[in-house]
Amino acid sequence: MDTYMTFTAYGDNAGEALEKAEKEIHTLESEWSVTDENSEIYAVNHSNGNVVTLSEDTAGVVSFALEMAKETDGALEPTIYPVLTAWGFTTDENRIPGNEEIQSLLSRVGYEKVELNGQKIHLPEGMELDLGAVGKGYAGDLTAEIVKESGVTSALLNIGGNVQTVGSRPDGNDWRLAIRSPYGDGEVGVLEVSDCAVVTSGNYERYFTGEDGKRYGHIIDPKTGYPVDNGLASVTIVTEEGKMGDALSTSMFVKGLEGAQEYWKSHEGFDMILMTEDGEIYLTEGIENNFTLTDSFSNMEK
Ligand code: ADP
Ligand code: MG
Ligand code: MG
Repeated sequence: MDTYMTFTAYGDNAGEALEKAEKEIHTLESEWSVTDENSEIYAVNHSNGNVVTLSEDTAGVVSFALEMAKETDGALEPTIYPVLTAWGFTTDENRIPGNEEIQSLLSRVGYEKVELNGQKIHLPEGMELDLGAVGKGYAGDLTAEIVKESGVTSALLNIGGNVQTVGSRPDGNDWRLAIRSPYGDGEVGVLEVSDCAVVTSGNYERYFTGEDGKRYGHIIDPKTGYPVDNGLASVTIVTEEGKMGDALSTSMFVKGLEGAQEYWKSHEGFDMILMTEDGEIYLTEGIENNFTLTDSFSNMEK
């Protein structure tokens, strides 16, 4: 999944649990990779419009991604891959595509054109699926499940910055999770939580700087085909399930400050930390008392 993962588990069956968790990640990677020629997603993306039968896990993650695309009014767009490629984010050979090129690629994008019936999928020719925005969160849920099945009640699974907590710390206290600063090095604050997923999206890890001096990040606004540039620096979602956290972190980043706030008001079951490029930080009610700014950020407007 092109990232680093760190799994920590406590208790009697911790070793066994971690081995199984690692195995699960490798299995999911081999099913969901966009670049591995043997993966299911690769098969779908090269199906020339033919129906492909998916495994249960892959059908599950695709179905969830399509559902969330609809729920977020297309802010989450699992078929954005052709546009992502044009910007060079899939090859690290970054470039700024012309407007005509972007418009023409956008005609190959649109989650509503994907047909999924049970485990059978039909993707129109020319379109491509990419689970980059939900796969790690979904993998976190499946891995947490495996760890729990081994009898572990306290674990911390860090899947490339998507943190999945199982239970609380072995001493019964909340986990203390550092939230990285989108403004440079260091941590903005510490979030104290248990039994939940904490997932962050931003433009500060994967981006390139154009000849115009502008920063272009890897999250694309599907309405324009351009990297998101709406004044948000990062979005952290706190919720029960990793898949929901991952889907929402990306889509709330696309929606921007006001759009994300509106979405939160009309949807239950998650909290968020929004940070703007101007150095403002917004917390939703549910986590107001669980977040402490670190000393160097203590003058941030909260
Ligand atoms: P990260 O991969 O850093 O955890 P995200 O979960 O926000 O970050 O996912 C970003 C990835 O999702 C991009 O690298 C790309 O593969 C894909 N992507 C970019 N824009 C969108 C979008 N609007 N909807 C769905 N996926 C997207
Ligand atoms: Mg992610
Ligand atoms: Mg995401």
